[in-house]
Parts: sequence; structure tokens; C-alpha cells
Amino acid sequence: MELISIPLPSPAAGTSRALSVLRFGKEGAGPKAYIQASLHADELPGMLVAHHLRNQLTALEQQDRLLGEVVLVPAANPIGLAQTLLGSSQGRFDLRTGQNFNRTFHNLSGDVLSRVKAQLGPDAGANQALIRAAIRASLMDQDATDELSVQRLALMRLAADADVVLDLHCDCESVLHIYTGTPLWERVAPLAGLLDARVALLETNSGDDPFDEACSRIWWDLAALVGEEFPIPLACLAATVELRGFADVNHADAERDATALLDFLRLQGIIAGPLSRAVPPACEPTPLAGCMPLTAPTAGLVVYLRALGDSVKAGDPLIDLIDPVSGNVQQLLAPVDGIYFARENRRYVSPGTRLSKVAGRQAVRSGPLLSA
Ligand SMILES: [Zn+2]
Repeated sequence: MELISIPLPSPAAGTSRALSVLRFGKEGAGPKAYIQASLHADELPGMLVAHHLRNQLTALEQQDRLLGEVVLVPAANPIGLAQTLLGSSQGRFDLRTGQNFNRTFHNLSGDVLSRVKAQLGPDAGANQALIRAAIRASLMDQDATDELSVQRLALMRLAADADVVLDLHCDCESVLHIYTGTPLWERVAPLAGLLDARVALLETNSGDDPFDEACSRIWWDLAALVGEEFPIPLACLAATVELRGFADVNHADAERDATALLDFLRLQGIIAGPLSRAVPPACEPTPLAGCMPLTAPTAGLVVYLRALGDSVKAGDPLIDLIDPVSGNVQQLLAPVDGIYFARENRRYVSPGTRLSKVAGRQAVRSGPLLSA
């Protein structure tokens, strides 16, 4: 294992932070996987999975089982990890700018196309190599000065030329679910099966350039822009994995999840050896545009009426929102048929709080599809 430290610019005189990166296997030796945890810094189940991955990858490296390289960033957001406000961790938004740490990653499609346009040919493999080189060059040409921009750029430089990119997050309270590009679903389905994901949300452009999409979308964007004359493979299989809820930090889940991720890398030819089990069938995927939020119309005390993972019908009562002063109870109903898969972890909320999500089958929303 090689330990790499990438310094971030000092945010204040006399202080500094760095991104710590673990590389297993040899750079450029074969297919590459990139796995990062806790880009939203206080989403900790992924950090524990990364801890288990480190141990398992160290053993696999010693057994000479790595056919390529695995780059692991166990704490992808040192800026966010240092943010606390009145004793509470604040890992989702950068307190200096208000920006969500998992938005506005680099959309390289246009720049990369301009770099490779004249050199594309009939060979998909040659086009892939050309585009990968252009992605690296494009990212090397990007400038960043402040700490947040440098962190984003460093993560992109580590990941964007990988064959597999897995971004480990969690929801507030939820069952395990996955976000990925619609064109990638067939190849991501075994990952969903291995992780026992209950929901898989698909989109080609979710609107705010989250990390996984910034890495993968460039391939289907370019394929659409150049047409069939120049074959371009979907060479980056990227997904965001939501490892249940904030509090689901335990060794049993983390060890099982780490084993599932490594089995997926075995399927991708990055690790040698048999899988730990047969790949279970995946859940039925649904469009991200069919994922319907339930929002609190008023302040109130929240009582959930159904279990996460339940199949619900439109109109089923999901939440009692109680005004403790008047005694008034508003019942919030399932907006569509679907899987009730995620919810807020606080039990008293202000108006406008997104309380729950139901994954429906019909794409009914448009515009930016991710929550703030
Ligand atoms: Zn997250």
C-alpha cells in the first residue's frame, strides 16, 4: 500500500489540511477502481466500510490478488470533518460558501470533445485511451486556489480516469440505495444485488453535477455528440452508494458492505479470485425523476407510521405531523406508489423540511433532481 498526502491550501494563517489517499496495487498496471468515503463529511457508514476495505485490500495485495489498482480515500472531505457548529457536525455544506460538498464537480464533456474531436477513429479502445488522456489533461489545466475548489479538483484528478468509481454516502435514515447513470444500470445491477440495495435511482443528468456523474457522464455525453461513426464505450462505471442512515455505523454491516464492494471489483476484473457468494438479483431500478419527496407544510413533531423499505400505495398515511400547542394532527400521505426508502432523522422540524422519499416508477419531476 502506498500512502499519498495531497496538501490543501491553508484556509487561515498557521493551519493546513491534507487529503489522505491509499493506493493498493500498481498505478497504471491494469484496470483502476476508485472508492471514496464521506464526501459529506459526517456521513460515517462509508468511513467504516473504508476501514474494512483497507484491511481486506492490504491482505489481497499481500496475496498478489490485485490485477490492477484500487485507490481508496477513506475520508474524502477533511474540510467538512473539521466543521462543527454548537457541538453538531456540519458535513454536508461548506460553512464558508454554503455550497454542498457533492455538487458542482467538473463537467468536462465540452472541453474533452474539443481536445479529441480530430483524432477519434473507428476503434473503441483507441478512442477510450484518447479520451482518458484528454480527461487527465483537462483536469491538469484546471485552476483552483481556495481550499474547497482544490479539494474538489484533487478528488476528480484521482477518480476521473478510473474504470470503476464508487462514492460512499448515507441518508438521514434509510435502506441501502444506489444512484447511477441510466446507461450504466445493466453493469451496476450486480453491485445492487451484492449490496442488497432496495432502491436504485437512475438518471443521465441529475442537474447539479454530483461526483459520480461528473466522472461517468462524460462518456455518454461524448457518444451522443459524435454519433455512431466513432464508437465510444461507457468507460467509467460510477455510482453513489447510500449506506443506510447516519447512525448505521456498525462492524457487521460495514464488513458485509466491504465484502460486497470487493466482490464487485472481482466481477470487474480488478481483483483475482472467486466471489464470496453468488450475485443475488438486483432490485428493480426506478427513475430519479420518480423519486418523490414529502415536505412538511408546517412546523411540528414528526411521527413515522410506516417502516423504511415498505411498498406503499399513493394515499397511504406515512407521517403524523403534530402541532404540540394546538393538538392539530396533519397526516402526510404517500405521493405515489413505490418504495418508502428514506426519511429525516430529526423528529421536530420547521416548515419546508423534506421528511421522506418514496421511489416511484414514473418519471414525473424535472429540473434539478437532487435535494439541496
Ligand atoms: Zn451524502
